[in-house]
Amino acid sequence: MNPNLVNFIYLIAGVLFILGIKGLTKPKTAVRGNMLSALGMLLAVVVTLLSIHHVDFAYIIAGLILGTLVGAVMALRVQMTSMPQMVALLNGFGGGASLAIAVAEYFSKLGMVPSSFADALLPTEANSSLFGAGIEGEVALIAIGLTVMIGAVTLTGSLIAFLKLQEVMKKSYGLPGGPVGNAILALASLAAVAFLVINPGHVGVMLAMIVLALALGLFLVMPIGGADMPVVIALLNSYSGIAAALAGFILGNTVLIVAGSLVGTSGLILTQIMCVAMNRSLANVLFGKMAAGGEKIDADEIYAGKVTSAQPDEVAMILETAKRVVIVPGYGMAMAQAQHAVRELANAMEARGIEVEYGIHPVAGRMPGHMNVLLAEAEVPYDKLVEMERINPTFEETDVVIVIGANDVTNPMARDVEGSPIYGMPILNVDKARTVVVIKRSLSPGFAGLPNPLFAMDHTLMVYGDGKKAVIEMTTALNQS
Ligand code: NDP
Repeated sequence: MNPNLVNFIYLIAGVLFILGIKGLTKPKTAVRGNMLSALGMLLAVVVTLLSIHHVDFAYIIAGLILGTLVGAVMALRVQMTSMPQMVALLNGFGGGASLAIAVAEYFSKLGMVPSSFADALLPTEANSSLFGAGIEGEVALIAIGLTVMIGAVTLTGSLIAFLKLQEVMKKSYGLPGGPVGNAILALASLAAVAFLVINPGHVGVMLAMIVLALALGLFLVMPIGGADMPVVIALLNSYSGIAAALAGFILGNTVLIVAGSLVGTSGLILTQIMCVAMNRSLANVLFGKMAAGGEKIDADEIYAGKVTSAQPDEVAMILETAKRVVIVPGYGMAMAQAQHAVRELANAMEARGIEVEYGIHPVAGRMPGHMNVLLAEAEVPYDKLVEMERINPTFEETDVVIVIGANDVTNPMARDVEGSPIYGMPILNVDKARTVVVIKRSLSPGFAGLPNPLFAMDHTLMVYGDGKKAVIEMTTALNQS
C-alpha cells in the first residue's frame, strides 16, 4: 500500500478519534462519538494489516478470534455495576500490550527474536514504509525502557484495581515504608532504564527492569482502597495511553502515537475531574492517606430517636401537592435497576403538572457518568439531567427531593463537619429542600462507610425497601389518588 495513502488514512483515523472524544462529552452525542472512535480504530487496524509485509496472518487471525470471543463474552456478561472493574482490566491489557511490544522490539534489536515473529510485529526494512524508520539508538532504548516501565506498572496496577473492586482482595498491603518503599522501587526501575541505555546488551537488566516495574504496579495500588479506587483507574487509563504512545514512537507508527496521546491526556483530565469531585488531591490518592472512615463517628449518636420513616403511599400524598420535585439517584438505583421505574414515577408526576428534574453528582454510583448512562437507558430526556453546580442553587425552591439509593453524595458532613473523612467533597445540597424523601433498604452507610445526618433531619422521610419496589409503589399510589 502506498505510504502516503496509509498516512492519509491514519490522519482520518486520528480526526475520527478526536471527533469521537468530543461526542463523548455530551450524553446526546455520546453513542455517535463512540461509533466514530470505533470506526477510526477499525480503519487504523485494517490499514495497518493491509500494509504489513511478510506477515504470518495465522497469528493475527488466531489473536482476533480469541480476543473477540473473550471480549464479547465479557461485554455481554458484565453488569453495569461491574463496569469499573471491566475498565480496569481493559486498561491492564492495554499496558500489557505496550509492554509486549517494547520487549519484542528490544529482543529483535538484539537479533534474539525469530525473524517471522519480528517481521509480524516490528518495523523491518520491508515494513519501514508503514512504520517510518522508527527511532534508533539511545532514544529508542529510552523509549523502550519507559514503555516497559509504564506498561508493566499499568498491567499489574490494573489487575490489583480489578481484584479490589471485585472484592477479591479486601485488605490493603504495602511495602515497608509505604510511599518511601514505592519511591525506592520507582528509582530502582528508572536506574535500570538508565543502565540499559548505557549497556543495551544486558538482557539481565531488561528482565530485572520488567520484574521491578511489575512489582511497582502491585505496590502502588495495593495500599490504596475505598473511595479512591476510581481515581486510580482513571490514572491507570492515562498510563495505558502514555505507554501506547511511547510504543508508537518505538515503532514510528503515527496512529498509535495519536491514539495513545489522546487516551493519556483524556485519562489525566478525568483523573483531575474526579479528584475535584471527591475532594482528593492526587498525592493523597496515590499515597493512601484517606482516613479509615466511620470509626470515630458514632452512627447511633446521629440516628437514635431522630429518624422518621414513611410508606410509599404517604410520600405519594406529599407529591400530590408539590410543584417542583428533584430526583437524586445514586449507586442504590443501579443496584435496584430502578431507572425505568424512576422514569415512570417522573411521568406520573409530570402528568400532574409537577416540574421534575434529576440532580446528578459527578461521582454518584461507581463510575463517572454512571447515573447518566442508566437514565439514558430509561429514555429520560438529557435536558432533565442537571449537573451539581446548576441544581444546587435550586434546592431551596424545591418542594420534594427524592433521593434514591444515593448516600455519600448527599451527606451534609462533607460540607459541615470539618473533621469528617469526606470533608470538602462537594455534595448535592438536598437538605435545603422543603421535604427530603430517602429511599434505601436500611440506615447502612454508603461507599465511604459514614453515617449520614441527612437521614435524621426533621424534614427527611426514610422509605425503607428496595429502590425499584418502593418507586413502583409510589407511582401506583400517585396514579390512584
Ligand atoms: P453510596 O455508595 O454512598 O450509597 C449507596 C446507597 O444505596 C447505600 O447506602 C445503600 O443503602 C443503597 N442501596 C443499595 N442497594 C439498594 C437497593 N437495591 N435499593 C435501594 N437502595 C440501595 O452511593 P452514592 O451514589 O451516593 O455515592 C457514590 C460513592 O461511591 C461516593 O462515595 C463516591 O466517592 C464513590 N465512588 C464513586 C465512583 C464514581 O466514579 N462514580 C466510583 C467508585 C466509588 P442500603 O444498603 O441501606 O440500601
